[in-house]
Amino acid sequence: MNDADFEKQKARVLAMGKQWITLLWLRWWNIEWRWHRGRIDGESDHTAMATSSSWRYAEAVISVDLLQVAGWDDQTLEKVIVHELMHPILHEMHSCNQDDGHEERVASWLQRAFLTVKNGMEPAS
Ligand SMILES: [Zn+2]
Repeated sequence: MNDADFEKQKARVLAMGKQWITLLWLRWWNIEWRWHRGRIDGESDHTAMATSSSWRYAEAVISVDLLQVAGWDDQTLEKVIVHELMHPILHEMHSCNQDDGHEERVASWLQRAFLTVKNGMEPAS
């Protein structure tokens, strides 16, 4: 991926991300995007986006592998962005750092619900 394609994908993610940050009432959060051209540190090869959050300080970091994102259509990109933006909201529900999978399931559930509403009640995949 050359620099021009990298910047193009970055702009694509940011445009959709900013739209959903507004819709989900996350504009008062400090959300940092970190851009990668390949595997995200500490994640598996298949993870294209990963979010870490600190609800105490309303801060989140969304790491994005733009190589994988470049192969997605807009619908897939939107699905993943909405899923990732559920994590800052849901993370506060944890009373410990143990990852028992519940946050992932609820994030996916809410992502489908929000996209169903956005799509005029057409059930999201
Ligand atoms: Zn997730």
